[in-house]
Amino acid sequence: MYIPSFEGKQKQIEELKTCITKTLEVVGEDTQREGLLMTPERVAKCILHLTSGYEQDPVAVLQSAQFSEQCFQPVIVKNVEFYSLCEHHMLPFFGKVHVAYIPNGTIVGLSKIPRAIDILSHRLQVQERFTRELCQCIQEALNPHGVMVVVEAQHMCMQMRGVEKQGAVTVTSSYVGDYQNEQLRNEFYQSIRNS
Ligand code: ZN
Repeated sequence: MYIPSFEGKQKQIEELKTCITKTLEVVGEDTQREGLLMTPERVAKCILHLTSGYEQDPVAVLQSAQFSEQCFQPVIVKNVEFYSLCEHHMLPFFGKVHVAYIPNGTIVGLSKIPRAIDILSHRLQVQERFTRELCQCIQEALNPHGVMVVVEAQHMCMQMRGVEKQGAVTVTSSYVGDYQNEQLRNEFYQSIRNS
């Protein structure tokens, strides 16, 4: 895992500032006008924040708060909001994540699931891979009987450009283990719909 030092971070900011200043020039802006003076630095810090998930390991976060519990019924965490950047356009896609897992003698501190979502969403992503990676890291961290993840999202690259279809929602899912059972999947979908 790559964790930049303070000096490394400053270097990243300086390099990004150069790129963003160049971008402003290319689109015909006056980089010396008041409103834009601090823009390269703000955008640089913003980009580093939105991609800060590369420096963190979601499996380690999930493993940092595990408890033995004789619970073998699905645990559902739904309506977790997320914001990510699509790797094709570097434009936001955002929406809700719903997670279900069936414990195998171990449960996870509930706040760790949103933390894992934050880590994976603060990387350049496609919704399909984001969904699969979340499912896989919960499987790896907890070794449960099953995991299922459903993501519903709107993509700014569809709404602000290209087909310009407002409000279209993309739904993706990923599941392993007991969730290969269709009835279990339907129960999960049912509980999402009742929100
Ligand atoms: Zn896109």
